[in-house]
Amino acid sequence: MKPEVQQRVMQLREQLQKASYAYYVLDNPVMEDAVYDQLYRELQDFETAYPELITPDSPTQRVGEKPATQFHSVRHHIPLYSLENAFNVEELQIWDSRWQRLVATPDASYVCELKIDGNAIALTYERGILVRGATRGDGITGEDITQNIKTIRSIPLRLDLPESLAKLADVERVEVRGEAFLPLDTFEKINAQRQKAGETLFANPRNAAAGTLRQLDSRVVAKRQLDFFAYTLHIPGMDDTSIADTQWEALQLLQSLGFRVNPNKRLCTSLGEVAAYYTDWDTERLNLPYMTDGVVVKLNSLKLQEKLGFTQKFPRWAVALKYTPEEAPTLVEKIIVNVGRTGALTPLAEMRPVQLAGTTVSRATLHNGDRIAQLDIRVGDTVIVRKAGEIIPEVLRVLPELRPEGTEPFIMPTHCPVCGQPVVKEKDEAVSRCVNISCPAILKGSIEHWVSRDALDIRGIGEKLVHQLVDRGLVSSVADLYELTTERLCELERMGQKSAEKIVMAIAQSKTQPWSRVLYGLGIRHVGAVTAQTITDKFTSVEQLANTSPAKIEAIYGIGAEIADSICQWFRISANQTLITRLQSLGLQLVNTEVVTTTTNQIFTGKTFVITGTLPTLKRDEAKAMIQQAGGKVTDSISKKTDYLVVGAEAGSKLVKATALGIKQLSEAELLELLATS
Ligand code: NAD
Repeated sequence: MKPEVQQRVMQLREQLQKASYAYYVLDNPVMEDAVYDQLYRELQDFETAYPELITPDSPTQRVGEKPATQFHSVRHHIPLYSLENAFNVEELQIWDSRWQRLVATPDASYVCELKIDGNAIALTYERGILVRGATRGDGITGEDITQNIKTIRSIPLRLDLPESLAKLADVERVEVRGEAFLPLDTFEKINAQRQKAGETLFANPRNAAAGTLRQLDSRVVAKRQLDFFAYTLHIPGMDDTSIADTQWEALQLLQSLGFRVNPNKRLCTSLGEVAAYYTDWDTERLNLPYMTDGVVVKLNSLKLQEKLGFTQKFPRWAVALKYTPEEAPTLVEKIIVNVGRTGALTPLAEMRPVQLAGTTVSRATLHNGDRIAQLDIRVGDTVIVRKAGEIIPEVLRVLPELRPEGTEPFIMPTHCPVCGQPVVKEKDEAVSRCVNISCPAILKGSIEHWVSRDALDIRGIGEKLVHQLVDRGLVSSVADLYELTTERLCELERMGQKSAEKIVMAIAQSKTQPWSRVLYGLGIRHVGAVTAQTITDKFTSVEQLANTSPAKIEAIYGIGAEIADSICQWFRISANQTLITRLQSLGLQLVNTEVVTTTTNQIFTGKTFVITGTLPTLKRDEAKAMIQQAGGKVTDSISKKTDYLVVGAEAGSKLVKATALGIKQLSEAELLELLATS
């Protein structure tokens, strides 16, 4: 075993132990849950590969923490276990085949429940009366918080026994387990009050709930309005007496006993159905008034549960299928520097692949040299990466405790890594740029931009082909694309006659793309697709735009001085003027040929839209054009000014933000219906 492994294992253990103490005992986490989970995974993987490294006090061998001392410690009648984690459907399948191997006749029926992000509570009823409420603690002993538990309205103090269950009243002891949690609005109110009082804020509703349950003054607990969902019922001999044979029945029984049971459960008879439940709740959970961090899958048969039993830490018959986080730690293996179409040097971290927001991420932007220096990101560091929705993954911070010895600070190159010319860094800019206009990287970037979907949308020309075209000297300006012939293209590696013909055709077709797309395709700094559209609505030909002043461009609603200056500067450069003349003679659209529609009295006049996700039938551009034709404006990001969010499948952060701001959401069908009534 390499000494680095041993060093890493020790580092991980120390980090996790500190985090666990801060989380469970102080209710004040020092890292995000997802970060904890990922580091825990890494430790677990090492311990699987090198079992000799396992120690009894390793965080992988323990459930929770020893309880804090303010409350009486109580020994649980039945231990409270944690749950094994799975982070995707493949890991769910691994869990499924593992338990199936252990029993002769697998009964594949599963109960899916939401994993409420709160605190596990064990309730003891004796002859129908609540006598004890305890926290989970380390699973064996917890804290007696009965007084506080009694303030929770959704926990019955006496079991509501229907006639058929009257015999339960004689049952010596009934154990009920469930999750005590704080609804999101209550959590926010508490934090707002704490902020006012200058107190430290709770990191999340789970920690706020834990802190509340441990309040010494029950009147404070009562004010905080905790809630509770019950999910486990233990009655001695329950399945023998056929009171409940399954988890599904137990949940129903809990409900009839007077507990709140989460209604969003599902009985599934195949793993496919379980996976569908998981996917359904991935987005749906964002509309719930409380936090969930996954779903819990349990085998339905209680007999089977009993047969399978527990490992040291988990029940074998259940698994927590967690949602992939938007932030996680990973290792920086290399830092490379990319040169973009504007000449900007962007450092990128090449990292050990990690699952984030549903995708595998192995590269993240480090933005620029100043940011690297500020965060002190080095090769060999463990860093937190974030990817939310459609946002490019970025490195948020370094975990300095996990830095190996002998690392060096990263220094940005002083020369362009592609053409070798010195780079320029303006005083007030964080970005260094290559200013060599014949730098192949700039040329490649600008051609990739020209052919991209929102620009001239030339299908069949990807990054690889652009590189070949530039490296072979076939293209040294976007205008050269229009002079490519099938014969020239066929000279390239792995290019057949048919593909070459298709590409030439696609290039020719792009000549019909409107002036707005051509303007966007030119790649003028700060001119995005939406800006290009706004500008070409006003400046209907390239001549008008090339001969105007920054003030006139700035007079357009929504266009600032930076954009206006950038456009005017671009047209002043003689190489750019030559390019425009060439494009004109090649037949590209540099004039608005569309009839400009008056936008007054149309259904969407004055309304701003944002589109997110994949719409079922319309392409995004089509939806955009339809909204614009009805007088609406389409922008890229959600703000308070957004009137509608059109939502398609796999919508990400925009949906979350829109929901938080209370912005009206439309499906494609609803949008079409509104358009039809206009
Ligand atoms: P867990 O939260 O991953 O899963 C087990 C818990 O799920 C149960 O104890 C129960 O409270 C809860 N649960 C919710 N709904 C349930 C349902 N329907 N059925 C059954 N159980 C349900 O495991 P854990 O052992 O409580 O805590 C480990 C987690 O705590 C880690 O995954 C980590 O995210 C977090 N943690 C974070 C830090 C930190 O520093 N941020 C430190 C330690 C632990």
